[in-house]
This record gives sequence, structure tokens and C-alpha cells, in this order.
Amino acid sequence: MVAPSRREFLGVILGVSAASGLAPSVLAQTTLTPTPACGGPATPTQTEGPYFKPSSPERVSLLEPEMRGRRLVVAGVVRGTDCKPVPRALLDFWQADAGGRYDNAGFRLRGHQLTDAEGHYRLETILPGVYPGRTRHIHVKVQAPNGRPLTTQMYFPGEANNARDGLFDPALLVALADNADGAAARFDFVLAR
Ligand code: FE
Repeated sequence: MVAPSRREFLGVILGVSAASGLAPSVLAQTTLTPTPACGGPATPTQTEGPYFKPSSPERVSLLEPEMRGRRLVVAGVVRGTDCKPVPRALLDFWQADAGGRYDNAGFRLRGHQLTDAEGHYRLETILPGVYPGRTRHIHVKVQAPNGRPLTTQMYFPGEANNARDGLFDPALLVALADNADGAAARFDFVLAR
């Protein structure tokens, strides 16, 4: 099958617009203008909470032998409000274990990494457990080179506790997909610049 030419494609749009009663130019513009790939506000900040510890180890995987919990990969891009990716941005993650506990003595489920030249990060971890008063979340500080740290949290879709957590912000929901190994989450951070 041959793909329709641009002229035929526009003809289809104009035909639809005539049926809908909208001016052809309005609908054609609405249909053909691409959604901006970026832009918009910076990622909202959130409270650090009581469990942040400085000086976490540099590592892209927080997994350890015998660690309980559903495997989770979180990946995305750090970019500025100017749309440009931020290379060598620092991301410092900390989270609860599958039982909802933080390691405050050591650095279990804590780690930092730097984005690559295209602003990408990738974290291997487990789905955090929930603890009283909070819905499921991962804490993170994100900082451009020579920038100020943005402290925030990431949330998960489909959690009944989201609606009951006063800190929950739908702007901080990851996109989540299940796979054979566990779950894959996507979240892009936007830093003011
Ligand atoms: Fe927490």
C-alpha cells in the first residue's frame, strides 16, 4: 500500500473540517501543528523529608544481592526550560525498601549519578515500598553543573494512596510500563534556566 501524498492527506483534513463545521484553516492548523517536544514549566519542587543523607555512593544500580522487591528501571532526560539537555547533571536518589524502610545507618537504596552528554540518566532499583502517611515515591535531588539543586519526588500511577497523600503532585507521575523483568518508568526533569 502506498502512503497518501501530502495533498491527499490535506484533502482528508479539509473533508473532515467541512463535516465538523470548523473553518478548514483552523482544523488543518490544529491537526498539523506538532506538539512541542519540550518547553513549559520547571519540574515542581517537593520537600526533602526526614531521610536525605549527603555523600551517597556514585552508582547507577541500587540493586544488591538478596534485595527484595519488584525490579524497576527509571530513565529519562534532564533538560532546561530552554529545552536543551543538561549533560553532567547530578541526580541523587534515595528511597524506601520493599518494606517501606529507609536505611539511615548506611547507603542502601541511595546513590547518585551524572547524566551523559545528551542529558540521559538511568537508574536500576526496586519499586519502593510504602510507609504510613505516604504514597509510593522516590526522592531525588537534581542539579545542573554550577546550578542549585532541585529537590523533588517521583510518584507512580494507579496508586490508591496518591489521592490520600497531601504531598502528591500529578505533575510528578512517572510513565510506567510493566515488562518481564519488572517495571520500566520514564520521567524527564526540567530545570529552570
Ligand atoms: Fe520518603
